[in-house]
Amino acid sequence: MTAQTDQPAAVTVLGLGPMGRALAVAFLDAGLRTTVWNRTPGRDIDLVARGAVSASSAAEAVAASPLTVVCVVNYDASDAVLRQDAVAAALKGRTVANLSADIPERARDTAEWADRHGVRYLDGAIMTPTTTIGTDDGVFLYSGPEELYGEHRAVLAALGGTHTHLGEDVGRAAAYDVALLDVFWTATAGFTHALAMARAEGITGAEFAPFAQGIAAILPELFTEFAADTDAGTYSGELNPITSSASTMAHVVHASEAHGIDASLMRVIEGQARRVIARGHGTDGYSRVTEVITGR
Ligand code: NDP
Repeated sequence: MTAQTDQPAAVTVLGLGPMGRALAVAFLDAGLRTTVWNRTPGRDIDLVARGAVSASSAAEAVAASPLTVVCVVNYDASDAVLRQDAVAAALKGRTVANLSADIPERARDTAEWADRHGVRYLDGAIMTPTTTIGTDDGVFLYSGPEELYGEHRAVLAALGGTHTHLGEDVGRAAAYDVALLDVFWTATAGFTHALAMARAEGITGAEFAPFAQGIAAILPELFTEFAADTDAGTYSGELNPITSSASTMAHVVHASEAHGIDASLMRVIEGQARRVIARGHGTDGYSRVTEVITGR
């Protein structure tokens, strides 16, 4: 409920792909008056059945609520929606929280556009799958004016999970997002490649997965250690020098290629480790790669 009236708080969701729909469902479940719009019509039928208001245009949708949450594929798409004259006019004095994924520069550019048009703007990123929305497991990151975040915090909390405001630099949520996507996609790519290698040796996915999960369990501690190395600029390889790591990377390359499996990812990874060694850091740990790839 809003503080002044007995009306439920209102929110608009633009974009009804899998994530936008999950956001709308969570808002509806929390009892908010939820207006929805999507470029392709007809994606809101079940949402309307749950109580959502279907807007016939994006401008009509944003006019219905003080806060509009945008969740489309990227910022080309959010620009295509928000930067229409009628939408920009309807947004004047209202708030947009853009939870679409893209890069920090696009977030900063959108914030500048919003500022020029009198639109109050928060940027954000969702770090967890659709199934976590409306549960304790969702992770939401925000950046932009802290006061604006505070104003809409209660409505955003209806999405469940953990909400973190990362600072006033509006690009910061996207900066975390792309770096976290880097972790996610390289780890996922490693696992899909490993499944192909295991299969080539007659090992099923079901046989292999528990052991891969054991590897994943090692990573949290390693992340803490590497993060400390990078912050301090010291990369001790006392327990595991990069010369030893590079040798095991070569095993992955050779075993893959013996089965005709593309090993280009591991060739890149091994190449980076070999560059560290060639620069005289062979006794350092693998985390020294962070320096080599940034050209320091
Ligand atoms: P998509 O990334 O496929 O986005 C689909 C939505 O984008 C649809 O509403 C689609 O509209 C809209 N869209 C695409 N192009 C345009 C355009 N030019 N103009 C207007 N609308 C457009 O699916 P999701 O809903 O899953 O993802 C939305 C965002 O959430 C993405 O940025 C994604 O990275 C992020 N995210 C998604 C997660 C997930 O698990 N799905 C997890 C974490 C973040 P239409 O129906 O008309 O095509």
